[in-house]
Amino acid sequence: MNDIDKLRQIVDGSSRIVFFGGAGVSTESGIPDFRSVDGLYNQHYDYPPEEILSHTFFMRRTEEFYRFYRDKMICLSAKPNKAHLKLAQWEREGKLLSVITQNIDGLHQAAGSKRVHELHGSVMRNYCMKCGRSYDVEYILNSSGVPTCNCGGIIKPDVVLYEEPLNDETVTQALRDIRSADTLIVAGTSLTVYPAASYIRYYSGNNMVLINRDATQYDHIADLVIHDKVGEVLDSI
Ligand code: ZN
Repeated sequence: MNDIDKLRQIVDGSSRIVFFGGAGVSTESGIPDFRSVDGLYNQHYDYPPEEILSHTFFMRRTEEFYRFYRDKMICLSAKPNKAHLKLAQWEREGKLLSVITQNIDGLHQAAGSKRVHELHGSVMRNYCMKCGRSYDVEYILNSSGVPTCNCGGIIKPDVVLYEEPLNDETVTQALRDIRSADTLIVAGTSLTVYPAASYIRYYSGNNMVLINRDATQYDHIADLVIHDKVGEVLDSI
């Protein structure tokens, strides 16, 4: 039996799949992984992306933050790929418990997924730091300089910046789902970025599937490892 057949067999026998996805799930929709920068950013910005996307930088150089953020982090032309669509389908069919994602692009919801734990937040949601009022992503894109609320407060994306903690409730729900999963599919992540590696330890079942283009240091603990594009693999199931 080849690996795709093995995965199909696992999926067929599952009713509580949890999918944990990293940047690799979104790159197949054309969204760049800002952690694997190729020098592109440095041509237009005086600081590395990790510094611009930090809490300190947001507070001190908000206008510069938004210049980078509008240019590089919001990518509304991106469409859900085969991975997003298959996961939404599994949820509708009652096979998938939830998606846990490190991506902030909202593509799982765009594909139709309802139960999505966004560990790093979402560019789709923004809020006034003063009164808490919500703003959509179009408001951010259509504003210039520092986007402000009617009350005069500064609007901040609901995105977890460097130096900021993850949302407690999101983490709690994600770990609860991993614990109760019958199958855990970890995909599109090298498992080197916090918190992915520490989370998979909460899974105690016998169907841990790792799908990633390159080998990871956790390949040996998975029950099935597939080194390929996530979208292609899921689409063939
Ligand atoms: Zn306000």
